[in-house]
Amino acid sequence: MNTPRPAARGRCKREHDRLNALPGTVNPGQLLFGINQGATFPDLRVWHMKEIAKLDCDGYAIGGLAVGEPTEVMYEIIEAVEPHMPQDKPRYLMGVGTPSNIIEGVARGVDFFDCVMPSRNGRHGKLFTWEGTVNILNAKYSTDDRPISETCGCPVCRRFSRAYLRHLFKAEETLALRLAVLHNLYFYNELTAKIREALDEGRFADFRAAYSEKLAERV
Ligand SMILES: [Zn+2]
Repeated sequence: MNTPRPAARGRCKREHDRLNALPGTVNPGQLLFGINQGATFPDLRVWHMKEIAKLDCDGYAIGGLAVGEPTEVMYEIIEAVEPHMPQDKPRYLMGVGTPSNIIEGVARGVDFFDCVMPSRNGRHGKLFTWEGTVNILNAKYSTDDRPISETCGCPVCRRFSRAYLRHLFKAEETLALRLAVLHNLYFYNELTAKIREALDEGRFADFRAAYSEKLAERV
């Protein structure tokens, strides 16, 4: 394995420390995360994680995943890297993911995530619910008076039907996009709140078993 020259290591960290020590720094509370790379090569990933762990960053991220590799490969890389991430620093999985990916990421030791999925998928009529995913463009919803999800308390589900939302999409009303994104963001907030609750109460394994696969099913 070819390893990069160590000379470059730590340059960003040193500059970050220097700036934060100056009087009048614009954002002295800004955090610096070390971002693990190495594609789908476990040896490169682990080597790199060990190197950036030495820098004592504020947190650590796993980057360069969720870019088209099979989901199982993504999970394998997280499992390879995670034991080498500092135990006392937050862990961030970049660009992930579906509700199932988030549950599986947490199960592998990840603390937080970012993703376009709730908004981008919402704009394409793909809606996330506790019963699975709904494609609101399907013809079967054209006269469906039920909300997107009977168990969702979001402002969209409390006021509007599947049939109405589908009509808005078909009529190319921009309100359709707004309502769909609102519902999906509400769902993601609820998902992460329930994950935290399950972790706090020591029943995350049950939560994972109940929802990891179910949330990926199509309603
Ligand atoms: Zn809703």
